[in-house]
Amino acid sequence: MRGAVRIATLRGIPIRLHYSFLLVLPVLAWLFSQAFRNAAEAADVPPERLLGHPLAWGLGLVVALFLSVLVHELAHSFYALRKGGQVSDITLMMIGGVSRITRMPEGPRQEALMALVGPLTSLALGGLFLAAYTLLAGARSFNLQFAVFYLGSLNVFLGFFNLLPAFPMDGGRILRSLLSVRLGRVRATQVAGGVGKAFAVLFGLLGLVSGNFVLVLIAAFVFLGAASESREVLMQSLLARVRVREVMVPRTASVEAEDSLEEVAARLRTERRRALPVREEGRVVGLVTLAAVRQVPAARRSQVRVREVALPVPTLTPESTAWDALRELGQRRLPQLPVVLEDGTLAGTLTQDDVMRGLELRELEDTPRSGPWGLGPRERESPT
Ligand SMILES: [Zn+2]
Repeated sequence: MRGAVRIATLRGIPIRLHYSFLLVLPVLAWLFSQAFRNAAEAADVPPERLLGHPLAWGLGLVVALFLSVLVHELAHSFYALRKGGQVSDITLMMIGGVSRITRMPEGPRQEALMALVGPLTSLALGGLFLAAYTLLAGARSFNLQFAVFYLGSLNVFLGFFNLLPAFPMDGGRILRSLLSVRLGRVRATQVAGGVGKAFAVLFGLLGLVSGNFVLVLIAAFVFLGAASESREVLMQSLLARVRVREVMVPRTASVEAEDSLEEVAARLRTERRRALPVREEGRVVGLVTLAAVRQVPAARRSQVRVREVALPVPTLTPESTAWDALRELGQRRLPQLPVVLEDGTLAGTLTQDDVMRGLELRELEDTPRSGPWGLGPRERESPT
């Protein structure tokens, strides 16, 4: 995700902090410090017995919020990993976290469970802290009491809030899974997305009336998220019906694994390409990219063989779906993929542009109004 800096890596998952979080941090800390007396009374703690400046408590609370969101997101991610999914990263933003799960456990049931583990973890954690708060009630350690009260409340709030059926929040994902059993995934996403947008409008109005800008931001996040996820699911269902052979370009230029990078550089220039498939004994064994060639100093390129810098590529056949192709291109950040026949020979190549152009050309065959895509031009812009 853009505008985010990596702060840690947990079980291979990069944890990123979005700059928007740094923006909201002082504001939230200040808001809490303003409400400090009331906050203390809510926790049944005499404010004058608390050590430290209210702002310091506010800052502590924001850090606690950050850690609570992280635990919540890790619950989603670890569940996905355990069920054979793939997680590319977790980004902590101003208004919560986003786990980018690139391969989901299949099926509505798994999807619902994956959405549920986040809020359940938050609620369990919140329950533990609140139980500790009750246990501490007679102990007269006001600072600790105050801290666990807010840690508990924060997590309970996080749990319940995320369970609201406002797609793409967790509750909305659970709603979508339940609906998709009857309606199918595309229709279920549209319905859940509609509910999500309605919630977003409600959040927005509430936020404006009460002057709560965090709620307004959440509204915007939910609204945009609902729109973009609906679009993606629609795109996925369309592209799943298109075969690679319909959109690939039958370019069969390639290089041999034994060639030097100097030869590859010349070949990339004459073919005007950013990458070329690599062959060995007639079979495709990988891909060599312009970026990989450029990493080797020009003077050394005559001594380096293609096989040393070639990237492994997934097997893409003419019968694969365009959706699979786009997903592989996106996940591996490759400029193109070779399309390979069953015997391992090269049939052509495919780029993201090829898929988009193929779709547009296909549409020429249909009347624009009632084409099988049923999509306006705007909605086709972002494929991934
Ligand atoms: Zn969640």
